[in-house]
Amino acid sequence: MYPHLFGRHTVDAYVSSIDQTVAVLADRVRAVRQPYSGASVHQLQAMVDTIDLDAPLGVTGAALDEIANLYLDHAIWFHEPTYLAHLNCPVALPALSAELLLAAVNSSVDTWDQSSAGTLIERRMIDWTAGRIGFGPGADGVFTSGGTQSNLHGLLLAREQCLADQQVDASQQVDASKPVDRGTLLPRLRILATAESHFSVGKSAGLLGLAADAVVPVATDGTGRMNPLALAAAIDQVRAGGGLPMAVVATAGTTDRGCVDPLGAIGDLCRTQGIWLHVDAAYGCGLLVSRRRRHLLDGIELADSVTVDFHKSFFQPVSSSAIVVRDATVMCRIAVHADYLNPRTATVPNQVDKSLQTTRRFDALKLWMTLRTIGADQLGEMFDRVVDLAREAYGCLVDDLDFEVATTPTLSTVLFRYRPAWLPVADCDRLMPQLRDRLFAEGAAIIAGTTIGGHYWLKFTLLNPNTTGEDLRQVISLIRRTGQDLLDEEWQRAALVAPTSVVPEVRANANV
Ligand SMILES: *Cc1c(COP(=O)(O)O)cnc(C)c1O
Repeated sequence: MYPHLFGRHTVDAYVSSIDQTVAVLADRVRAVRQPYSGASVHQLQAMVDTIDLDAPLGVTGAALDEIANLYLDHAIWFHEPTYLAHLNCPVALPALSAELLLAAVNSSVDTWDQSSAGTLIERRMIDWTAGRIGFGPGADGVFTSGGTQSNLHGLLLAREQCLADQQVDASQQVDASKPVDRGTLLPRLRILATAESHFSVGKSAGLLGLAADAVVPVATDGTGRMNPLALAAAIDQVRAGGGLPMAVVATAGTTDRGCVDPLGAIGDLCRTQGIWLHVDAAYGCGLLVSRRRRHLLDGIELADSVTVDFHKSFFQPVSSSAIVVRDATVMCRIAVHADYLNPRTATVPNQVDKSLQTTRRFDALKLWMTLRTIGADQLGEMFDRVVDLAREAYGCLVDDLDFEVATTPTLSTVLFRYRPAWLPVADCDRLMPQLRDRLFAEGAAIIAGTTIGGHYWLKFTLLNPNTTGEDLRQVISLIRRTGQDLLDEEWQRAALVAPTSVVPEVRANANV
């Protein structure tokens, strides 16, 4: 009997090793006071490099101690209230229980005979999500590894639909004698999306074999939302140029500004034009369970496919995402049958028929446990809370003369920069990335950064409902102090090296 494999004879060892693991983790989390230790890449590289992977320690406890020093001590902690950088969330406890179960059982939701009830649980979670979207009973979908894969999957289905439509001739009959020449059609396919859409849209276009210019940018209304009139014009233009509009991608919660494209108007247009609508709600899907802001997603039910990232606004551990489609039959377009896995004659559901992956984690269990324990309303309340927090941060920054704010927030991101009135924009653009790096190197707060219209902005992404207004004010003070420090340091450096003409007054006063 091999003692390190999970099973009936190692249950005691399993319990003891999980107990030790949980104890070590609990210990660290109790002690954590800031999102990052501030360790540099060189420090961590040296620590990783010294480990001799060919000299096993023999017991879990020793390996745990080692990894606690290497990984836990220098983890980026998303539950810390001053972690404000990316779309990472603190995770729901019931989902962590689920992680234990699904990891040990090790189900793979590809075929029925590898998952049984797991398959049915995943299907219920898809049906539940489809219901929240407003799709009818004909909907379907599958869990994926993340929004990137969900977007690829949605666009793959759109491509197949578009190519299938081309096979229907003018008299609306399928002309089987005239098989679609994919080779000539692929370069003509176009995807319409705003420049604010996620970069995975362009990446998917490449993977799907489309032309380098396949993604046609649609103008926005000035606040970052897709302009439906510009969309109509762009569709006409694509057609006039001999292109085939394969899909429109509307974003419900853009990664930078949190904008929600006008889904109703876009959906109506796509319906009349016969174009596939993919809604990327990787970030905005939390609105599906919001009692106060569900209306922001009005029109999402007009989509053909929707991306949802439960690991963003549903407080689920990575990975947990899904692609959901209005019409189940389109999913079969990508089914490939293998005699050893899912023969055509199967009488049981095999999720592999719909998925791009084969072996696949039973991530749906985490959402299931979360819904069964705390329920959708509380998830929605937590998402509403972070949207409220963004308003609060905006309020603080907009009234502060040391800061500029890019736009009023829609969801839970705030774009701003430290720029006292006398600081030229070019200097500010240069300073902001340094400021962000400095914060990361100190570890007390982590914020993001992005470029909009050629200018650099700092970004708060709020996904922790336990962050308070006071936390935000402290981070804002820290940013101000750090900005001042960086400017002081620049002046001092300039004073050391500059010719007298550049900073004479500083030079005269500098005591360096
Ligand atoms: C995060 C995000 C994605 C990508 O999702 P991953 O889970 O990181 O792969 C796609 N679209 C939008 C709008 C996102 O915010």
